[in-house]
Amino acid sequence: MKIEKVETFLVPPRWLFCRVETDEGVVGWGEPVVEGRAESVRAAVHTLAEYLLGRDPLRIEDHWQVMATAGFYRGGPVLSSALAGLDQALWDIAGKTYGAPVHALLGGPVRDRVRMYAWVGGDEPGELADSIAARVEAGFTAIKMNAVGRMPARHATQSDVHGVVERVALAREVLGPGRDVAVDFHGRVGAADARRILPLIAAFQPMFAEEPVLPDRPHLLRDVVTASSVPVATGERLYSRWDFRQALEAGVAVVQPDLSHAGGISETRRIAALAEVWDAKLAPHCPLGPIALAASLQVAFATPNFLIQEHSIGIHYEEGAGLLDYVMDAGTFRFTDGYATRSDAPGLGVQIDEAAVRKAGEKGHAWRNPVWRHEDGGLAEW
Ligand SMILES: [Mg+2]
Repeated sequence: MKIEKVETFLVPPRWLFCRVETDEGVVGWGEPVVEGRAESVRAAVHTLAEYLLGRDPLRIEDHWQVMATAGFYRGGPVLSSALAGLDQALWDIAGKTYGAPVHALLGGPVRDRVRMYAWVGGDEPGELADSIAARVEAGFTAIKMNAVGRMPARHATQSDVHGVVERVALAREVLGPGRDVAVDFHGRVGAADARRILPLIAAFQPMFAEEPVLPDRPHLLRDVVTASSVPVATGERLYSRWDFRQALEAGVAVVQPDLSHAGGISETRRIAALAEVWDAKLAPHCPLGPIALAASLQVAFATPNFLIQEHSIGIHYEEGAGLLDYVMDAGTFRFTDGYATRSDAPGLGVQIDEAAVRKAGEKGHAWRNPVWRHEDGGLAEW
């Protein structure tokens, strides 16, 4: 079997899909994307595809090594995400060729259900309570919320800090003691303010605090980790096992590689194994489309130190198009009591609606994240 064609589709709301076709008619799908940089990743996918054309798709590891390292320059979001999407497509082809789900090829399932968490938006307290209650009503046992919105200034005031504490307290009140809340800092507050805030929310026992420090400042992580008992999570902007090493050495409790950014299924499995050395758990980042989510679930079913999975269904940025618009059977992503159920469908276990993808690809998108400013006009972290 040989790889014959690699195509890419820029589809709303902000995604990029790739389709890898073989001379035997087996087709694999992947999702190589960096949110806001989709066109750059698309160019990188087609550069990497030059090597794949005419080669055996089942030599996944060898292709991974070539795509990751043989170009001399390596790593970073664009190259690692292009690699990630192609890696997903190759695993999809392998599963379809062997008639097995990818998790079977990874050693077989270690669980039958995968716990999911749901995003809640809403910056107003009333809105937040309603939003969480709706997620609980839908069966979710865990939610994630932003710690803060746009910071008015570089330094958090007492009322900024108080606002975070109030919101986490409210979430805990609505959730009760038997469900979980995760708090995403999005790198917005800085290490010093994170050290002030974390001890104050520790009483509400969040499942984890995400990106309390920007990913390019791993040397500050240890101080934040030791500032409170709140488990610290990071990783959506880290791209390889080498990137994760410093975070793990600093004591993070949860690693969050994104299946579409961190070298795909192949590298995420290795990051998870590395995390086990530090007793850290895997919670893949995935505010993305159906292929990234399907790839995440395959890893979750086969990875012992998996904790919980993110998904984008019903998320705030889904305007005009959503994850379910690109799949043949929406039941693939129907969650029961907040859990995804394992299936034996081959490959990534999702049937992509090719006609819908081709049609959406004609429309494309030009999604960019907003540029935020502090009240003094200075640039703020989004
Ligand atoms: Mg995040």
